[in-house]
Amino acid sequence: MSFIESVTSAFQSCSCGSIHHEINMKKILISDETVYREMAAFIKEQGFKKTVLVCDGSTLKSAGNKVREILESSGISVSLSLILPNHHGDVAADEKSLIQTLLETPKDTDVLVAVGSGTLHDIVRFASHQRGIPFISFPTAASVDGFTSAGAPLIVRGEKKTIQCIAPIALFTDITVLKDAPPDLAAAGFGDMLGKITSLADWKISRWMANEPYCPTGADLTKEALENCLSHLEEIAARSEKGLTVLLESLIISGLVMLVLDHSRPASGGEHHLSHYWEMDLLKRDAPQLLHGAKVGVASALLTSIYKRLIEEMNRNQEFTDPVKNSRYQQHQMKIAQTYGELPAEKQMQEWLAKVGGPTTIQELGITQELLEEALQQAHTIRDRWTGLKMKNQLRLTPQQ
Ligand SMILES: [Zn+2]
Ligand SMILES: [Zn+2]
Repeated sequence: MSFIESVTSAFQSCSCGSIHHEINMKKILISDETVYREMAAFIKEQGFKKTVLVCDGSTLKSAGNKVREILESSGISVSLSLILPNHHGDVAADEKSLIQTLLETPKDTDVLVAVGSGTLHDIVRFASHQRGIPFISFPTAASVDGFTSAGAPLIVRGEKKTIQCIAPIALFTDITVLKDAPPDLAAAGFGDMLGKITSLADWKISRWMANEPYCPTGADLTKEALENCLSHLEEIAARSEKGLTVLLESLIISGLVMLVLDHSRPASGGEHHLSHYWEMDLLKRDAPQLLHGAKVGVASALLTSIYKRLIEEMNRNQEFTDPVKNSRYQQHQMKIAQTYGELPAEKQMQEWLAKVGGPTTIQELGITQELLEEALQQAHTIRDRWTGLKMKNQLRLTPQQ
């Protein structure tokens, strides 16, 4: 059974009451160098003749040139949109890149092909959505779980906003390209997966505390993907073919779950809010950006300690000033404490991150203690979504009678 079929069939038997959107992707293929021919055959099968290949300088070299050569030799016309880096040397999904891609996509284009990592996909996702032209994903690194989802985090006037766009119609990648990608990208992909440890716990609690939509199948699929990464830790650390395949497959599944549920709750909780807060600070200061998954992994590790301390606080006569919240809290307190109590220790999380070569602390990321404290007090206000971070900031000591 293909990925798409197995995820689809898992949701078919779910009776949680949430809407399970159909996955409109036609094909997902992680393979050896035969993948280029498979992609060309797919494009022809769809009746597409004109493509725009969107790359950056390094992904053009790692896979773009080969994609171009094989598509052209199959009689498919290819025009190139080479996204230029910003003054930090990074490709950013900002107004400049978005407009560049829109301008470099001729009217009669049949399909866009994104060859790159997460940011490059966000640029193409936006252009594809705006122009009503489908796109094909060609990840060049196992770096993030957004390849197969519809949300595009974009930088507009210096602020990061996630815009709902569309998912690719297919995903192809060459395992050799993933192996040759810079090692910190796979470490970031692993960090994004490790973040599911806290996002899944937060999602569970959001159902009890705020009645947020919860789908046990979505939670199970995301959890299985995470556990698969943890059981292949050695291979991922060695960046073997098996390890990178497992990692990318897990990231793809996490993206597909978001696509089916049409929200990112399974994959994004308090750790993503902290990461987002740090990112906003870097943007404000015009500092170079850090890899998404690197921040998420570190944030998730430190939240496990904070959430365990939250249980201790919960045991000291705390309550919510809002009576509705307070009654929900009284009702579910035991389950909340159990959920956060079962999280792995921060040290264990750091060991996993270190094993794959990612940063493990805010110091390694270059985030100051001050910014961390600020984020711990403010990041829960970024989104109207229930998390342990929100809980920590809203629980008050019961006033003495
Ligand atoms: Zn993420
Ligand atoms: Zn469900």
